[in-house]
Amino acid sequence: MPGIGKQAETVRIRPRIGRWETAQTGEISLIGTHCSRCGETFFPEHAVCAKCGSSDTAEARLTGPARLATFTVVHQLPAGFSGPLTIGYGELDGGVLVLAPIDGPADRLSTGMPLDLQVGVTWVDEDGEPMTSYRFRPATV
Ligand SMILES: [Zn+2]
Repeated sequence: MPGIGKQAETVRIRPRIGRWETAQTGEISLIGTHCSRCGETFFPEHAVCAKCGSSDTAEARLTGPARLATFTVVHQLPAGFSGPLTIGYGELDGGVLVLAPIDGPADRLSTGMPLDLQVGVTWVDEDGEPMTSYRFRPATV
């Protein structure tokens, strides 16, 4: 609008992902939600239970290992991603499903295998700024 004197701002859109913390030991904890009413635990966190709608919820810390529930390989990726990218659902204790990239060749993955949580660069934006997020890798036994 004329007369406002405000210059157009560049809007930077960053993917919204769940929160996590890394302990001094290197263990990754995903920050989820536990519902005190129905007992459901989920990730990422919500103010209201996704299952029963109760707001009687508390923070839940979710750690690995996970079990690989399902996965796919994505070949057509947005700018900033290097591919192909393997993504999948890891099931944590309590049946909590977490969608995340999985490191390593897809032909070495099989459902039910254990996965470790880790943190790494998932995407690099147009300014070269890396976006770090949680991800899975096959567990080293
Ligand atoms: Zn609930």
